[in-house]
Order: sequence, then C-alpha cells, then structure tokens
Amino acid sequence: MTAPIWHTQSGEEVAAALRTDALHGLDSAEAAERLVRHGPNALPRARQGSTLALIARQFRSLMVGLLVVAGGVALALGDVVEALAILVVILLNAAIGFATEWKAASALAALQGQAVATAHVLRDGAAHVIAAQDLVPGDVVVLAAGDRVPADGRVIQDVQLQLDEAALTGESLPVTKSAAILVDAQAPLGDRGNMVHMGTAVTEGRGCCIVTATGAQTEMGRIGALIEGVAEHGTPLEAKLAELSRALLVIVLVLCAVIVLFGWLRGNALLFMVEVGISLAIAAVPEGLLAVTTMTLAVGMQRMAGMGALVRRLPAVEALGSTTVICTDKTGTLTRNEMTVRAYTLGALRVDVTGTGYVAQGHFQIDGRDIDPAPLGLALRIGALCNDARVDRTGDAVSILGDPTEAALIIAAGKAGLEHNALHAAYPRIRELPFSSETRLMVTAHTTPGGGTVAYAKGAPGMVLAACVAVLGADGETPMTAEAMRQARAANEALAAGALRVLGLACRDLPDDFAHADLTRGLTFVGFVGMIDPLRDEVKATVARCHQAGIRVVMITGDQQATAAEIARQLGLDTDQQGRPLQAVHGSALADLDDAGWIRVASGASVFARVSPEHKLKIVEALQHSGQVVAMTGDGVNDAPALRQADIGIAMGIRGTEVAKGAADMVITDDNFATIVAAVEQGRVIVHNILRFIHYLFSCNFAEIVTVGGAIMLGWPLPLGVMQILWLNLVTDIFPAMALALEPSAPDVMRRPPRDPAEPLMTVAFGWLIVWQGALLSGCTLAAFAVGMRWYGLEGEGLRHAVTIAFMTLAMAQMLHAFSARSRSRSALTSRLFTNAWLWGATGICLALQIAAVEVPLLREVLRTVALSPADWGLVAMGALTPVLVVEMVKLMTGWRSRAARRFAEHPAGLPPAPDGGRP
Ligand code: ADP
Ligand code: MG
Repeated sequence: MTAPIWHTQSGEEVAAALRTDALHGLDSAEAAERLVRHGPNALPRARQGSTLALIARQFRSLMVGLLVVAGGVALALGDVVEALAILVVILLNAAIGFATEWKAASALAALQGQAVATAHVLRDGAAHVIAAQDLVPGDVVVLAAGDRVPADGRVIQDVQLQLDEAALTGESLPVTKSAAILVDAQAPLGDRGNMVHMGTAVTEGRGCCIVTATGAQTEMGRIGALIEGVAEHGTPLEAKLAELSRALLVIVLVLCAVIVLFGWLRGNALLFMVEVGISLAIAAVPEGLLAVTTMTLAVGMQRMAGMGALVRRLPAVEALGSTTVICTDKTGTLTRNEMTVRAYTLGALRVDVTGTGYVAQGHFQIDGRDIDPAPLGLALRIGALCNDARVDRTGDAVSILGDPTEAALIIAAGKAGLEHNALHAAYPRIRELPFSSETRLMVTAHTTPGGGTVAYAKGAPGMVLAACVAVLGADGETPMTAEAMRQARAANEALAAGALRVLGLACRDLPDDFAHADLTRGLTFVGFVGMIDPLRDEVKATVARCHQAGIRVVMITGDQQATAAEIARQLGLDTDQQGRPLQAVHGSALADLDDAGWIRVASGASVFARVSPEHKLKIVEALQHSGQVVAMTGDGVNDAPALRQADIGIAMGIRGTEVAKGAADMVITDDNFATIVAAVEQGRVIVHNILRFIHYLFSCNFAEIVTVGGAIMLGWPLPLGVMQILWLNLVTDIFPAMALALEPSAPDVMRRPPRDPAEPLMTVAFGWLIVWQGALLSGCTLAAFAVGMRWYGLEGEGLRHAVTIAFMTLAMAQMLHAFSARSRSRSALTSRLFTNAWLWGATGICLALQIAAVEVPLLREVLRTVALSPADWGLVAMGALTPVLVVEMVKLMTGWRSRAARRFAEHPAGLPPAPDGGRP
C-alpha cells in the first residue's frame, strides 16, 4: 500500500478521507481507538542503556543458573534446608534486582515525563490540550506562533502562517503555508506549501491543520528511522563497565576452578567443593554492578533535575563530569538579560539615563544635570517603534513580553513620556524586516501623523553604520564622510568599553513606492543607545569554581568585542585556569582559518564576539580536536548542529527554541550558568560514586574469595559455609554498596582536574588498592578464624563456632570498610562522617541482620552459626577493626607524603597535583 499524497488534495478531500468531521464532532473514543491502531505519535528514540541492560540480564541469568546448580548439589548432598534456603536467596536476589531496576526505571520515566510535548486539538467540538503523542490522523490541530508542529498535517486554515522548516529541509528562511495552495505530487518537501511537518516550528501567524501522519510515518520520523538504523554503540561508561565486568568474570571463574581443584586434591569431597566453588563464583559475579550503575545515573539525573538541569540522555552524565571547557552564551546566561538603557549618544552629545529595572521612572542627564529629553525624541521613537516587545503593567507588577533588549527601549521612551500604545497608534507599522542573529538588524516602516512614510532601523552598530549614507547632526542631515564614520565608531567604542550593549539607530524618509524599497540601504544615522545587562550575582564565583576544577570557561556572543571583553574581565574570564592570559576574538578573524588555525585560536580564547551559529560548530570541533571535552550552550534553531557536536549540548529552558532543546543533551530550566556548573559537579559526583561502589564491592568480593582460597591453600577447614558466602553477597553487601552509590558531593570534587574520559575505570593503582584492601580483610578474617580454631577445636560444634567467628569478622569488617571506601585519600573520620545518611541506614540494617544471623534460631540453623560469647565478640571486633585502622593509617601516611612532595615541587597556581586523575 502506498501512502496517500496529501499535498495534491484539497482540505475538504483530506478531511473526508480522514473522516475529520467525525473526530472533530463527537468522538474521543474513536480517537483512542485510532491511537491504538496507529501507535503513539512518538518518534523512535535512541535506545538508552542498551548494552548495560543486556549484560545485567546476562549476569542475572548466570547467577540464577549458578544458584540453581548450587541448590541441586545441596539436594544431592541430602541437605533440604540448604536447598530451600538457596531458593529463598534466589527470590531475594530477584527482588533486590527488581527493586534496583524499578527505581532506575521510575527515575528515568519521571524525567522523561517532564519533557512531554503538548498539542492543541479540536475534539468533541471543543479545544483541548493533549499530549502530542496522543494525536491521531484526522485530528484537527491548532497552530500558533512559537508552537512546534506536533505531527504532519494538511493546512486547512491560515492567517499569515509562517514556519521555520530548517530542522527538516535546512531552509533557514521562514516558509509561508497556505490552505489554498495545491501542489503536484512530485513537489519536494520544501515546496509543499499546504503541508506542515512534525518538528518544524511556527514562527508567525496562526492556522489549523488536519493531522495526516504521526510518529514514525512523518517526514521527521523517516529521518529518525534513518538515524536509528545506524548501529548504536554503547556509551563510553557502559563499554568500560562491560569490559571490566567481563574481565573480572574470567579471572574469578579461573580462580574458583583452581580453588575447587585444590580443595578436592586436599581431600575434600568433590561435590562439596563444587558447591563451594559455585558459591564463590556467585560471590564474584558483579551482577549488582550494572543495575546499581544505572540506578546511580538515574538518581543523579533526578538530583540534577531538582537543581534545574534536565539531562536528556543517560551517557551525558558521564561526559558532564569530564567536561574541560564550557562554552557559554553571554546574554541571559552570564548576565541577567534584564536590560536597562543607560545612555544615548547623538553626535558628540552623550545623554545619560537614570533609573533601574522595568519602571518608567528616571531622568535624562548631561554631565549629571537633568535636561529636557525633547532633542532625543527621534532616537526614542525609533527605539520604541522598531520594536516587537510589550510591557504590561498591572498595578505595580511589570511583565515584559518579548526581547528584553527591546523592552528596555520601550521603558526608556516611557521615561520621556512617550506612551507606547499612543505611539504605535500614531505611527502604524506597514512593513518590517525582523531581527535575526545573522543580519543583526531590524527595520520597520511606518506612516507618520504627517502622512509620509518612514523607515526606522536599529541593530548592531556595525550593521547600522554600514547601511547609512548620511548622518544627522546639530546642523541637520549631512553625508556620511570618513570623518563622520570615524567619530561614530569612537562613540560606539566609548559606550562598549563600559560593558554596555550598544545598538545603532537610524531612519529614512521613504518614497511613495516604499513597498519595493530596500529597507537596509540609504539610511541616515541618528545615534547610539547603550544599555546595561547586569551580571548574574553568582557567576563570578562560579567561574572561579570552574577554574579551580580545571575547567576553562569561554564566552560566545553575538555582542561586540569591546562589550564582551569588558564583561569577561569583570567575570575573571580573561585568564584560564592556570592564570595564563586569554584573548577576546572577533568573529571576522575566524573567516578563513584552516584547521590548525582554528585549533590555535580556540585554545587561546576566552571570548568569541560577533560570532554566527556556524562559528559555534567550528569552535566545538576545534576544541574537541585539541583533546577537550566540550559543553556548549545554545538557544536558536541554528545552534542545533553545535549542540549535537558538543560532548554536552546545553539548551536554554527559557530562551531556547524547541529545536535547540531537541538537539541538546541537557536543558537548563533557569538559563543560569551556575546551574550548568552545578550539573558538572553532579556529573563528577556520579562517576565518583560508581567508582566508590566498585571499590567497595570488588574488594569485598575479593576478600571472600581469598578467605576461602587461602584457607584451602593452608590446608585449613573452610572458614565460610556455602550459605554464609551467599548471605554476605546477596544480603549484607548490597546495602552499603548502594549507599556508597548515593554519596553526596564532597567539598573537593570541584578542586580537582577533570577526569580523563579515555582513562579506564580500573587503573593499575585502583586495581592494586582493591587487591591489597581485599587481602587485608581476608587476612584479618583468617586470623580470627585461626584463633577461633585454637579456642574451640577443629571438630563438629567447635569448628562451627570458629566458622561463625570468621563469618562474623568478615561481615563486620566489610561493614566498616564501607566507611573507608568513601574516599581513597580523605580520612573516614572527619566531620563528613555523617553526611551520607544512607550509609548509616545501611550499616544499621547490616548490623541488625548480622546479629539476627547468630541470635535468631531459624537463621542460626540455615547459616550454621552458633551464639557468640562476649570473648568471641571481642575477637570479632578486633578482626573487624584492624582493616579500617590500617587503611586509614595508609591514607594518613600517603597524605603526608604527597603534601611534602607538593611543598617541594613547583605547580601551576591553584591546581594541586593529582596523580590519581580525579578519583573520589
Ligand atoms: P547575544 O544574545 O549574544 O548578545 P545577539 O545575536 O542577540 O547576541 O545580538 C547581537 C547584537 O545585535 C547585539 O549586540 C545588538 O547590538 C543587536 N541586537 C540584539 N537584539 C536586537 C534587536 N531586537 N533589534 C536590533 N538589534 C539587536
Ligand atoms: Mg540574543
């Protein structure tokens, strides 16, 4: 079946074919039924965490398999209680696995729920707002300026409807859509003037359309399908985890086999040794690793969402933590985007404007003395009329609609008594060229009260001056000479040097046939207006934090170089994190750079001024080529490629277009630079927590293997029973491990250089740490076991007593080890001892379970333990405390050593040496 070609049909035909009247009339039930038939109107999304989930599932089935075999062996040995207990363990483990995954899944679902797109539809004869994914073909959708088109549709009503289809066709100019047009079947997408397409944006006007295709059937969906067809690679973190887990598995299985073989050769029954081997294998399969990693990432994303940073892709979290350069917009991100006009310059005259905020109260002054604003009339009128913003006043509350730059001009005119509505009524607008970041110029044409027509223009100073052929001075209009141009430039520089955002103002009397006149030529220069955009309070301190954290901050702006450089200086952006001076680069200097040139410029710049969106893409690429991990902000449609290319594309929640948000990895709800940095910090915390968790889990598992293996090598009886090994692994280890994954941010996370994303999770130093600490735990356990055997003998009940002591020692030592594993270099005993409430909760649970293991008769039976005497408890305490004390001593000593080394070595300012590459 070929899909119908809608753009050749009239609106009535489309409505009939899709039975729109029925839907429009009375039928939500039918809509629901159609929804089932067509599937949800959602584009195919890249699968998330696929590799992880797959391996987690493999591990889980391996585990269950091992447990079933262990249960079978127990049965074969005639041990019904143990077989039953293993069954319980299987169920328990499944429950914990399920709980972890459920937690992760619900966290992710909650996050996705925050980004639901909506659509305005007419159903049951009334207008409704529904989730865009509930649209079905035949629905009538209402479109208004600023909307994202939620599905493909045939336009049936239009009022100056204009769409930005760049996302789909690459056409950067808005396209007019009309219901009346008919197009022939072969018309390419960009020419289908009666169709609107999912994912494009309404820039002007309004209209209605009948939905003709949803989800994967839309034009965008087909592109989406193309994208999805590309083989998906695991994220770096996933790949590293998978690699690590697999390597570990091989090592462990070999070790287990060796232990089984030796135990058998030493005279133990083979079947019994197989059971021990299996329980050790179970001990060592890192099946929780992947589930907890996903949970950690998901919970971290939830934490970030609470701070105003919505992460849209799981892997972005890791990249965030490794960010080395943040490229950020200036206006609204570093500054508050609350513009206030401060000065006008007309020729050599500078008029200052007082007053703050969006209150039309203030004075016009020359050299500090109030003046009559009448001579400024033309300049004020240009600013207020060449303007799309609105300022609404209800009582004392002032709300502005539109661009703050333009709102400031309305307020300034208000200070001179020019009332906005009256002004617009007196000078109706008849034509306009809207502002864009490319042209940096806006021109409007108006009829004057005198019956003439004028063009008013405002824009970036360079753009306005380039369009001017004359200049208005004290003695009227004179031609724009080189000298006049030089004077104008100097006036602009003077304003910009004070960190003011400068706009040029110009006008032109239009001929009668103005409809065809080029509004960007032949203008008369009137003057400049300078406005301040106060810095956000927290930004300066945040920049300093970035530098401490080894992160360079680069400002990218469409504003002028002088203004941007001055703001950069005020923020401390003019040096990098090592105190080297950085340059402010003008967009024109980027015109014909080769690749090497781009890399050179990008690595020495703190400011890119007057850049266009394409430059952003090149800047990201150049930084990436020089080995940086780049976070890049953006808000416009044209920023999408740069946002995609960046390791972390960050879209602005308030100013950002839907397109930019769609391309981004993260959306900042408050547009604030500080939120970006807070998210980077969380990214680091999350990766550190995964490492903490690995540290703890692996050293504990290793300790269990070495305890059993060591005893066999020494020719001793087994210090841990099968059920005890399972208990440690599947019951008590889990809680501290999860608690470590939820560690809050430590004070020094932002005082270390970023983690190298290419570095493996398991460095040699880290592996060594796990090995010696695991060996230490098992050494103490074996020592306690030896004492126990000395006290109670090697036979029957006595051995059971000694085994209970070993079991208890290892369990307690692991519990305490969790506190050491919080940091590899910081002492466990600091004021931060109580900052992780989860860990205390986990310790409480473990302690209770462990005491129950020897006090509750049923558990005593299953775990083959005995009640312990006070002397036994003393022995357990000694065995359990020793490892913590040793680990803490070692931390202390290496701390001294590296501090001493630091005193002798010369290091760049602010950056402590970090031989461990940003470890927790
Ligand atoms: P940014 O947001 O980084 O400051 P923009 O592209 O928004 O950069 O603005 C670039 C320049 O264009 C500004 O410095 C200003 O001179 C001018 N400009 C900004 N907004 C407007 C507007 N609404 N109308 C005319 N000119 C504008
Ligand atoms: Mg802007």
